Amino acid sequence: MPAKKTTKRAGAKKSAAKTKVPRAKGKALHFVVQKHAASHLHFDFRLELDGVMKSWAVPKGPSLDPSVKRLAMEVEDHPISYNTFEGTIPQGEYGGGTVMLWDRGTYEAEDGGGVESLREGYRDGDLKITLRGKRLQGSWVLVRMNRPGRPQWLLIKHADEYADPSRDIVAEVTTSVASQQ
Ligand code: MN
Repeated sequence: MPAKKTTKRAGAKKSAAKTKVPRAKGKALHFVVQKHAASHLHFDFRLELDGVMKSWAVPKGPSLDPSVKRLAMEVEDHPISYNTFEGTIPQGEYGGGTVMLWDRGTYEAEDGGGVESLREGYRDGDLKITLRGKRLQGSWVLVRMNRPGRPQWLLIKHADEYADPSRDIVAEVTTSVASQQ
């Protein structure tokens, strides 16, 4: 076995043409889940894509049970800088209430196609991703429903080694991933 670690894939080709948007391959994209006790408790599920956090409000939070489909209402993009926020938004302001960092980590397109696959999945309403968080891991999908009005999606765990129908992770895990409190 060679002792030297290689950081580049053997045989990786350099692309000749420059793309307008920086390539995501080799650069980790982040995700966060913020538990938000606003007028209605929900979980904000956010995926980094093209310089913003694509965002969904998930009233019941994620489920590890592949047979459970959780409503995920698409909301406005958030800045990446919001990823570290936890604390209190004053009452009367948009989203007034407390925000807790419930999970965070990196994610990627499940098919290994990088940011192009993520853009396609988002555009087509069939976004298959692999999460590498502390609490959420493995294969997930966001599927957009064909309904008028504000885009509504379903967040679903795919069956894999991280699926677990016996656990209610939202009830079980109530601490901040940042402070453990
Ligand atoms: Mn929210």
